[in-house]
Amino acid sequence: MFIDSFKVDSPNVKYTEGEIHSVYSYETTELAHENRDGKYQWIVKPKTVKYEFKTDARVPKLGVMLVGWGGNNGSTLTGGVIANREGISWATKDKVQRANYFGSLTQASSIRVGSFDGEEIYAPFKSLLPMVNPDDIVFGGWDISNMNLADAMGRAKVLDIDLQKQLRPYMEHMVPLPGIYDPDFIAANQGSRANNLIKGTKEEQVQQVIKDIREFKEKKKVDKVVVLWTANTERYSNVIVGLNDTAETLMASLERNEAEISPSTLYAIACVLENVPFINGSPQNTFVPGLIDLAIQRNTLIGGDDFKSGQTKMKSVLVDFLVGAGIKPTSIVSYNHLGNNDGMNLSAPQTFRSKEISKSNVVDDMVASNGILYEPGEHPDHVVVIKYVPYVGDSKRAMDEYTSEIFMGGTNTIVLHNTCEDSLLAAPIILDLVLLAELSARIQLKAEGEGKFHSFHPVATILSYLTKAPLVPPGTPVVNALSKQRAMLENILRACVGLAPENNMILEYK
Ligand code: NAD
Repeated sequence: MFIDSFKVDSPNVKYTEGEIHSVYSYETTELAHENRDGKYQWIVKPKTVKYEFKTDARVPKLGVMLVGWGGNNGSTLTGGVIANREGISWATKDKVQRANYFGSLTQASSIRVGSFDGEEIYAPFKSLLPMVNPDDIVFGGWDISNMNLADAMGRAKVLDIDLQKQLRPYMEHMVPLPGIYDPDFIAANQGSRANNLIKGTKEEQVQQVIKDIREFKEKKKVDKVVVLWTANTERYSNVIVGLNDTAETLMASLERNEAEISPSTLYAIACVLENVPFINGSPQNTFVPGLIDLAIQRNTLIGGDDFKSGQTKMKSVLVDFLVGAGIKPTSIVSYNHLGNNDGMNLSAPQTFRSKEISKSNVVDDMVASNGILYEPGEHPDHVVVIKYVPYVGDSKRAMDEYTSEIFMGGTNTIVLHNTCEDSLLAAPIILDLVLLAELSARIQLKAEGEGKFHSFHPVATILSYLTKAPLVPPGTPVVNALSKQRAMLENILRACVGLAPENNMILEYK
């Protein structure tokens, strides 16, 4: 059965007008190894830590500024949200289609709240905590192309034509602000659309972005802004000691107008200085160590990298399943071809390399989790190929071959063929990223013994379900397995309302 909403009734939870306060017992383990009677042994001790969570229940009016607003993702998301807000429906050759948020974890998925009369009861994911309604988001942003959003939607060739016609009047007047362009960082084939540029030194460009954010906030009367990079994939920046390895060297390099600071890092610096959350939806290393350092110093949320939309999402499910079933993947080969502007940009070797890196580490944690299947240091062969094929447009093809060793030396090969408009996968993920970034900034926590409440670590691991190469604070394990990432997110939100983690034991019926 599906219910719309619920309220937790527990001595550990207090709902007031502006706040939800919960006391939560975190059941975890403490590990140590010791030498007992000449034998080396691991000792595991169960441990309970009391936490308190405080969630600001007042939902702000949210502004979202996209870098690359006029791209396929930016225009598809903007059109999609307007269509939902205005209740637009349109004719396709099959049926009359209504706007929806399918593909969004927060808007279109559910959580189990318990059992009632022998039935499992589910509720919307978004009913866990007060969240911004995506219909109410005000969009804005930057693009190096000055095309208005209605024309950009036409250029993208993603949304149905009857829908585009209805959306045009809402989007014609939306024109991206000039963007920071540096041809050294994206493919040369992007040069022809770069007609809307912020001039000046790198420091002046950062100042312009700060000014743009302030003006947007004021003009649109929004309480909070989140900035998200959905512009073209850049090449990797070189990480060099004395250039961008600490907050201080990065800021000094900015002052010296150093060539190696990428446009995406410039937008990120502006956001961190302005205390505006910044999320990177592309694979490049926008978050050089100096930027991470700066975000930690300023306690500004940063999250990334690279939307986990299609092939990698499948991989982080399939390999988790195989390794979890005691089957040994030995070769994973992934081909993609796509014909949108992202595909054209990725046809240059240096931008493709960024994508290759972000796609390549996704199975590491799953492989490392099973020492019965893999020797230390052993890894399946893992190859990723991306080709630009204009004809298929945004409808990306992804073909994967997984070969595994099974019982008694047998071999199992699974082949997947996935066809889908890339931007229709990415747009709801962008929504989740900005909604969850906004929500997580309203949550404060403290463990027993800690004097004061504090926010989550500025490097937002809570967003990792949505990203291909989750950015984590230095010294933190990276989790790629999709079900673990989802459970982490859901269980943290449950803790905020005093609910135990979903453990799927269903002991009531055993
Ligand atoms: P797109 O090429 O259609 O859009 C990118 C936009 O960014 C363009 O309009 C371009 O003019 C603009 N741009 C480039 N550099 C800029 C800059 N420095 N400042 C401001 N604007 C700039 O691409 P897309 O299909 O919308 O994808 C966007 C990004 O998302 C790509 O990097 C892609 O790799 C990444 N991504 C997409 C998916 C997906 O499923 N669609 C998944 C993961 C990652």
